[in-house]
Amino acid sequence: MGKNILLLDDDKQFCKLMTSVLEGRGHKVLQAESGQQGWETLNKENLDLVIVCGPLPDKSGIDWITEIREKGNQVRCVFVGESQKEVQINKSKLENDLGISLIVHKPIIPFVFGAQIEGQFAESVGNQSAKLKDFETMFLALVTKYARMLPGKLDDLSAAIQKAKAEPDDRDLVGEVRAQAHKIKGTGGSLGFRLVGEAMAFIEAAAVAMPDKSLEEQQISWAEVDRKLLDAQAAGEMEAKEVAQVVAGKDDEAAEHAPAMARILVVDSDQEFLNLIEELGRERLVEIVKALNNTEALDKACLLPLDAALVNVVTDAPEESFRLARQLRELPGYENLPLAFISGDAFIKDRVEAAHAGASLYLDKPLQSDSLETAVQHLVAIRQGGRPRVLITDDDEFFANTVALVLRNEGMIVRTLLDPTKILDVMQDFPPDMLLLDVMMPGVTGFEVCRMLRQVPRWQDLPIIFLTGQTGVDARVEAFRSGGDDYLPKPVVNEELLTRVKVRLDRSKLLKERSDKDTITGLLLRRAFSEHLTGMIAEAQRLKASFSVCLLDVDHFKKVNDTYGHLAGDKVLAGLGQLLSRRFRVDDLRGRWGGEEFILAFRREAKATMHAAVVRVLDEFSNMTFVSDDGQEFHVSFSGGLASFPEDGESVYELLQTADRRLYEAKRAGRKRIVLDDPDPVTVIRG
Ligand code: GH3
Ligand code: MG
Ligand code: MG
Repeated sequence: MGKNILLLDDDKQFCKLMTSVLEGRGHKVLQAESGQQGWETLNKENLDLVIVCGPLPDKSGIDWITEIREKGNQVRCVFVGESQKEVQINKSKLENDLGISLIVHKPIIPFVFGAQIEGQFAESVGNQSAKLKDFETMFLALVTKYARMLPGKLDDLSAAIQKAKAEPDDRDLVGEVRAQAHKIKGTGGSLGFRLVGEAMAFIEAAAVAMPDKSLEEQQISWAEVDRKLLDAQAAGEMEAKEVAQVVAGKDDEAAEHAPAMARILVVDSDQEFLNLIEELGRERLVEIVKALNNTEALDKACLLPLDAALVNVVTDAPEESFRLARQLRELPGYENLPLAFISGDAFIKDRVEAAHAGASLYLDKPLQSDSLETAVQHLVAIRQGGRPRVLITDDDEFFANTVALVLRNEGMIVRTLLDPTKILDVMQDFPPDMLLLDVMMPGVTGFEVCRMLRQVPRWQDLPIIFLTGQTGVDARVEAFRSGGDDYLPKPVVNEELLTRVKVRLDRSKLLKERSDKDTITGLLLRRAFSEHLTGMIAEAQRLKASFSVCLLDVDHFKKVNDTYGHLAGDKVLAGLGQLLSRRFRVDDLRGRWGGEEFILAFRREAKATMHAAVVRVLDEFSNMTFVSDDGQEFHVSFSGGLASFPEDGESVYELLQTADRRLYEAKRAGRKRIVLDDPDPVTVIRG
């Protein structure tokens, strides 16, 4: 949502820069050069924010704000001081008397300032401003590091220029100059080294044109390049100093604030225990949301976005705790909320209940710091299963890290890869939902990488966005011809990058869900389920762990259709689908195998426990009342067959065959039951 922002400053250069940053974020920017003009605009326009800079031609910025406040105008103001000193001296007045929420000083880093302005509009719900702080801190760290390396990079460029000058006929040498300038332009420009970026753009263009010039023209051109390089070195030094100043000003704030890795709801009636957990959480960078009872827990879950919940199982009334777990999972957006139970005494019966209610973990009290950490990691990992994974391939480490930072700040899981020749291995290990690909890399171009990936069936639909400094029409055409989905020029503007990445991710997720999920039940379709199941076997083999699958089949479903109508039949399938997705743990798999057959796969848990959990769901399902179109009420049940890896089979095929055989046995034995063993041989002979 764009806001109306007034920029009150007579520094044209600064206004131009800020206008482009703010307009890039979708805001409307008005400018005023004097206090008088500012006051007039204030009265004419409906403004959301005024950015007031230090001295104005007719009065100081602080006087201006003081005056408008005296006249009763409470518009939100941001103050940009001329120097750190000016800000320090006036800080308390600005904050306390004039109600200024953001005070900064020049020089500002456009990126960071843009983000800070955004923070002014952000709702206070959630940890938006904390998130922004993390971003700022990390971004500044990155910029600082780059500032330190920039002189070396410019020296390398200088050496390359000298070499190319000495061998006018060697095209590779001038190509090297172009490549180096190109890289500094992309990264330096993106990190806020604007003047350096501009000088590099000039050198890059000169190098491109060089081979077509006569020797005499080349000499003139090289002289210009040398001059630009000197400019860049001076500008680099200056811009690096500015960065150092900004960073120095931020240090104290940054130290106070460490980013929380997750927000976890803890429900326990024992206030002391809650405080203890909060303390443990602080050590582990976890934000703990405390609730003393179920009502409070549900309220907080509605208000704050949670990553997981830890629920204490009340010894006298465990059913209450399990009910809370189910209620939490029924809140909108929390269908996949990872859950853990804590209890002083862990009975096997409770474990069944816990699995049924959707717990992924069961912790014993007293809780150790270590086990809390393990639990948090586990729960967060499950939650992250739903986060998009992005791979950035760029030989420029700084550029890759900058983009990674921006995307991580939005909750994405990001991996960077500097050596494009390793891409297939890395993608095996870290299957991405999206690839950001640089074009110019040593050894292989991004276009070639893209073309190669498109030949691999698994990656045919992977969204690929090129990030490159090459902006010509040819490059654009080549980007699409090689199979890329989008194209972003370097230096990349954050907002644009983010928007494009998000739009692509959303769209491909939607497409994937549409092709992976069944519309009636909302569960995985057979093909998608099989893929996961294959992965589960590989995982179990690697970890020497076990897992179980269960095939379910609705009883007498043909009769349901015939008696109550096909629509009522669909309602039954949808009801069972919903029940299955809300029960069990988030990391358990549920699918529609076809027709009225369903399939479940459970990690780790022993067969007997899972058997009990499925029986619980069968009970619940049998008690659900369905209504036909003409108002008749009816009940339905299902039967199931269970098989475990490795004891009942070591391949998908064997496991499913065993499960199917047991399902058949369940039907034969009278339906509405789950069979977990093969029938006694004696029975078979008799039968
Ligand atoms: P059993 O207890 O032995 O499993 O008996 P059954 O009647 O459930 O088994 P059968 O396989 O004979 O019948 C399955 C029926 O399920 C037949 C088919 O028309 C119906 N069916 C399959 N898919 C759907 C669907 O998407 N919607 C509806 N309403 N019915 C479906
Ligand atoms: Mg059936
Ligand atoms: Mg059937």
